Formats: sequence, C-alpha cells, structure tokens
Amino acid sequence: MKYYLGIDLGGTNIAAGVVNEEFNIVAQVSRPTEKARPFGEIVADMADAAREAAQNAGLDMDAFSSVGIGAPGPVDPDTGRLAFVTNLGWKNAPLVDEFKKHIAGPAYLANDADCAAFGEYRAGDAKKYPSVLFITLGTGVGGGMILDGGRIFSGASGRGFEPGHATLVLDGARCGCGGRGCIEAYASVTALIRETIEVMAADPRSLRHEMCGGEFSRVSGRTSFEAAKQGDAAGQIVVDNYIRYLGASISSLVNSLRPHAVLIGGGICNEGEYLLGPVREIMKKTLYSADTIPPPVLMKATLGNAAGIIGAALLETQAL
Ligand SMILES: [Zn+2]
Repeated sequence: MKYYLGIDLGGTNIAAGVVNEEFNIVAQVSRPTEKARPFGEIVADMADAAREAAQNAGLDMDAFSSVGIGAPGPVDPDTGRLAFVTNLGWKNAPLVDEFKKHIAGPAYLANDADCAAFGEYRAGDAKKYPSVLFITLGTGVGGGMILDGGRIFSGASGRGFEPGHATLVLDGARCGCGGRGCIEAYASVTALIRETIEVMAADPRSLRHEMCGGEFSRVSGRTSFEAAKQGDAAGQIVVDNYIRYLGASISSLVNSLRPHAVLIGGGICNEGEYLLGPVREIMKKTLYSADTIPPPVLMKATLGNAAGIIGAALLETQAL
C-alpha cells in the first residue's frame, strides 16, 4: 500500500494528512497557525503536524517518498520559496529549505488553490476529465488550472493563474489586491455580502433585515440567496447580479482556456443548481462557438477542505 503525506498551511490552521492509494485521507491533524509567531516556529509546527498525522496512521516517516505542501500566496516551484503571504506577513520565504531542516527528503511546494485544484482533479468527481479549471469562491476568488495529463499550470516564476484578479470591469469596484474591477471584486463572497448590505440599506422593507435581526454584521453569502428563495425581490436582484458577474467571469476563463470541466468550490457552491443552472445559461450565450462545440461540464467541487491536503500530498504524482 502506497501512502502520501500532505500539509495545508492556512492563515488560521495548519492541517496535515495521510492519503492512501485510493486517495482518501486516513489520518489528519490540525493545529492553529498562530500566525504572529516567527516563520521558523510555524514551519517547525508544520513538520510536527506531519509527523503526528503519520503516527496516527500507524506509519513511519520512511513510508513516504515525499511531503507535499500547499501554502497561500504565489509559490516559486523551482526555488521552493513563497514570494509573499500577506496573511502571514512573509516575503520571499524559503519554505522548502526551512522545512527540510525538520524532515529530510523530497518536499514539494505549490499554491494552496493549485493544490485544491489538483486534489479535485485526482480524487474528486473531476478525475475523469483530462483538463480542469477550478474556481473557488470565498473571501477572495482563487483557482487552479490542471492541464491535460495532470500538470498544474504555474506560469512564469509560479505567478500563473490568479483568476480572481483578471479584470472584469475596467476601473470598477476596489479589489483586495489594490486594483479595481477584478473578478474577485464581483464574484467573491465578500463582494456578495457588500452588495447585499448596499441593497438592504436602500430597502428597509427587504426580508433580509428580519433574517439578520437588523444587523449588517450578520449578513452572509447565504442571506440574499435565502431571501430570494422566499420571494424577496431585492434579494433576487442581488443574486441575479452576482450570477451575471460570475457567469461572465467563468465564460471569459473558458474562452481563454477551454478546459474539459469547470469546478466551482467554496461554501456557496452548496447552492447547487440554483447557482450553477443560470451560470450554464450565461455560458451558452457567451461561449465562443457555442453552437458547434459543447460547453465544458460545469460542476460543484466535491472534496471541500480535504481537497487542499489531498492535492498537496499527491504533488509528487504531478506530470512533469
Ligand atoms: Zn484584484
């Protein structure tokens, strides 16, 4: 039996997991990142978490031919460095070199969204497709593109594929990256919450005030969707706008990349067909040559948070 070991470094938690050859997680540990700590301490904890996950699976470290690490921010796969991690305050951090002080042997590093994409590609419902575009809708809009044969597209110096920062509206809404009009500024859950609050503020009768006990701080990505399903017209406007921006974003990416399948991740994909159905309609209208080539399959990502750990663990299986 072959086993793989992966670590998913996040701003809140460090998760490590052992993955078996059926690509299921058989042991997992999670501990707080405590991000104010020095770089070296956090990396030492990542190695500790990996060892503990191995132990919980009843395995020695020599059962693994590598360790895979997924980390937030742009990664240079050649140097094993993280260019910057805003969330942790790291710049040009030599993560792989530091990690090897604790666990010797091959270590692979990739961006966390790329790892999630790769996990879905290898182990999720997307595994039957040769190329996959993965978009995750959360605080931001992240994603990964897995090319035919199982290679993560990482671009020059690992800066490739940041779909959230492709321009959707020139000089549009302010984005977290400092730019304007990015996909993330319209299709993230943060953007959905911003729009929900704006429209609610202008409509004191909206059902959503009642749903949130009159507190804007209780507005979530679900608020407008729930209100719309209960017949709230203003909630429906926010949902329709959100879906239009999301649909246009996905169509543009599909016209550029033409993957076999598109996967949508993040909590909002639990809206299922209520979200994906209208996006498919927009794709039909806007995809190049839509009348001659069938559109890519559009579906919900299936692995949730496990995708990041599974993808990191399986980095050694990436086609080169
Ligand atoms: Zn941006």
